[in-house]
Amino acid sequence: MVDLKTQYHRIKTEVDAAIAEVLESTQFIKGPAVKKFEDNLAAYLGIKDVISCANGTDALQIAMMALGYQPGDEVITASFTYVATAEVIALLKLKPVLVEVNPDTFTIDPAAIEAAITPKTKAIVPVHMFGQVADIEAIMKIAQKHGLHVIEDNAQATGADITLTDGRKVKAGTIGTVGTTSFFPSKNLGCYGDGGALFTNDAELAKKIRVVSNHGQTQQYVHDEIGVNSRLDTLQAAILNVKLQYLDDYATRRRGVADFYDNAFKGLANVQTPVRAPYCTHVFHQYTVKLYGTNRDDVRNRLNEKGIPSMIYYPIPLHLQKAYKDSRYKEGAFPVTEQLCKSVLSLPIHTEFEPEELAYIADTFKQIVQS
Ligand SMILES: *Cc1c(COP(=O)(O)O)cnc(C)c1O
Repeated sequence: MVDLKTQYHRIKTEVDAAIAEVLESTQFIKGPAVKKFEDNLAAYLGIKDVISCANGTDALQIAMMALGYQPGDEVITASFTYVATAEVIALLKLKPVLVEVNPDTFTIDPAAIEAAITPKTKAIVPVHMFGQVADIEAIMKIAQKHGLHVIEDNAQATGADITLTDGRKVKAGTIGTVGTTSFFPSKNLGCYGDGGALFTNDAELAKKIRVVSNHGQTQQYVHDEIGVNSRLDTLQAAILNVKLQYLDDYATRRRGVADFYDNAFKGLANVQTPVRAPYCTHVFHQYTVKLYGTNRDDVRNRLNEKGIPSMIYYPIPLHLQKAYKDSRYKEGAFPVTEQLCKSVLSLPIHTEFEPEELAYIADTFKQIVQS
């Protein structure tokens, strides 16, 4: 699905030098590369504060801890997402309130959010799914009207640009109360292990996030609240400092792959190619089509026989997962989400394709779905 090896080889000299520098310094925790990366990412995103942490799941958890929610408080997110989003809500003894997504953009449906708000609702967590930004302006309007926080799960859309209705251009993850992301190796900005970050323009919140992510420590050995231990290690920060310089190039390459697929699949009656929302650039963390009237497992098996991997993100919606089962959510509760889980298929997309490889994948896929 991805080719991290070729990508590494293209930047090997720079990455190896950055790693060697950390090894020589032996400042493996909180070395200078960490602060440098936080500053570099803040400048790239156009935001005041970036606070790095150990992974994208921690970033979501730290955001909710720093915002001070109490057990029983409700947090609204989509049922069609990676489990991490709902997991941290449940872990903190908050109540995940799952809602529908838009069938075209795969992102949370603003009307469904509004319908799910109760006096206990504290936050909305939109997920910028597959590299496409949720309808963030509509979500911000709802949040402002009801006094709610917006925690943007930007793990899949680092680098996406949004054009606001007033014409301003901003980066995905920088509009809400706080944005979170992951540097898992296969993400658009990936390190060589685990990593994550939070970003915010709220200086007070940034301070709180730093305290929470460092054992709730306000000064050395003084703990005013319960926190966690969640750090981006220096080696990963050094690697990310190199890779951040290439993020826009990576997005362009991914979009080029998507354009190629879109063009190749034009006119296929049983394939719906990704719909691109007009307000943002899609950074194609995944290239996900919807299949109609074909047996998806059969398509996957036949692709596999030709040496082409494919994935189903995500096969089971959160509301039908055993861990998140609830009397509120029966099968049929979210028809759009359930239908997506039955019809989506993600094809290989990354930054390192040779034109022949891409043509082989597209031609093979076309043959399979047409026969
Ligand atoms: C990858 C991902 C996360 C979690 O990131 P980790 O770094 O693996 O903890 C959270 N939310 C979404 C939508 C993701 O895709």
